[in-house]
Amino acid sequence: MDIRVICVGDELLTGDTVNTNLAFIGDRLAQLGLSLQSEICVPDDECCIIDALDFCAYADVVIIVGGLGPTVDDLTRPTVAKFLDRPLRLDPTVRDNIRAYLGARAATLPSDALDIQSQVPDGAQVMPNRNGTAPGLILRRGNTLWVLLPGPPRELIPMFNQEFLPVILPLARADWEAVTLHICGMPESAVEKLVRSTLGDANGIHLAFCIKNDNIMVRLSQLCSCRHENLEQAVKALRNAFGYHLIPPPHQTAAEYLGAILAERGLTVATAESCTGGGIAAALTDVPGASAWFPGALVTYANEWKTQLLGVPKQTMDTHGAVSEQTVHAMLDGLLSTYHTDLGIATSGIAGPSGGTPAKPVGTVVVGVAANKAWREVKTFHFNGLRDSIRARTASTAINLLLANLLNQQE
Ligand code: AMP
Ligand code: MG
Repeated sequence: MDIRVICVGDELLTGDTVNTNLAFIGDRLAQLGLSLQSEICVPDDECCIIDALDFCAYADVVIIVGGLGPTVDDLTRPTVAKFLDRPLRLDPTVRDNIRAYLGARAATLPSDALDIQSQVPDGAQVMPNRNGTAPGLILRRGNTLWVLLPGPPRELIPMFNQEFLPVILPLARADWEAVTLHICGMPESAVEKLVRSTLGDANGIHLAFCIKNDNIMVRLSQLCSCRHENLEQAVKALRNAFGYHLIPPPHQTAAEYLGAILAERGLTVATAESCTGGGIAAALTDVPGASAWFPGALVTYANEWKTQLLGVPKQTMDTHGAVSEQTVHAMLDGLLSTYHTDLGIATSGIAGPSGGTPAKPVGTVVVGVAANKAWREVKTFHFNGLRDSIRARTASTAINLLLANLLNQQE
């Protein structure tokens, strides 16, 4: 099935708005075994929109996103109507729905704005918008379905799921089936090597690798005409090969997986963070229900705070530096003895751009994880990249290190 997307909006081309609608649509369709053939992003300009419509004229489905508002720059509706040669008519039901949605605010809207948004091209099917004013529209010409969706994601997403998918799914035949695996604690090249050596000549299975939040996503897909067991066997083989590095579904991140293990074992973890500045706490509290196993974090950025809140001896930092395994050991000691969690994570590092020395260049990071008295691991890492990525990698490395230790203890 040839499905194409046209995104309309100056702001998408200037970089003011990130094109998240494309990512959402691509992802949602991929989950259903459908794939996008192409996407064109055009400014709010009639000629450019027409060019894009021309390019898509023989597709099965053309999804046109944005430019449905009431202002002069919103040209999608009249341009598509002109392209398909369908006159616009005011639809009283659409106008009533917009009035009802706006409630008391309708009175403050210029009446022509209401009229503009109530215009519907001849023969269009209207998809109601419960989260905004512009309705979605579906038009048919020849074998092509033309679908107009509003730009704001909070309007587009529910309309896509609730109104558009029920129309398209009966028409669509999934071309391929896919499984996505999430791997943590291994670099992309090592993941790829192990996947390829495990699967060997993988009988028509297409592989794609991508880094997401420092985890590696491995997508296995095959045409629906292939044997379904192929894919099942491949996933099973990869589970064996990757062991605990493979995050078990439904979890998608190492933090979610960690949270599930802590909840199951009735353990708690706290963090003492220097260079990550609370980044680990942020990742942990992204997980719903984190309060069951995460009481809190200490962001001890300055040496004085490491001493006051964690009892790190000044002398340790004077002798070995704040970024040292000795300091991180002392941070863990203070965290576990003062705040009484079962587990602790501590970080200290040089995220740059300044502060590096020949002995400890920017990217030198120490991460420590410990279980009260039972075990501990403190390791020095050297990360490349800019400040943001060094801090993010430190946070994910810390979570992965704790996860690896917890799972090793079990074995
Ligand atoms: P519009 O329907 O063109 O009036 O879009 C209204 C708002 O939706 C824009 O200001 C953007 O913030 C947002 N928007 C439009 N298109 C996209 C897109 N492709 N991805 C994410 N946000 C978008
Ligand atoms: Mg716009």
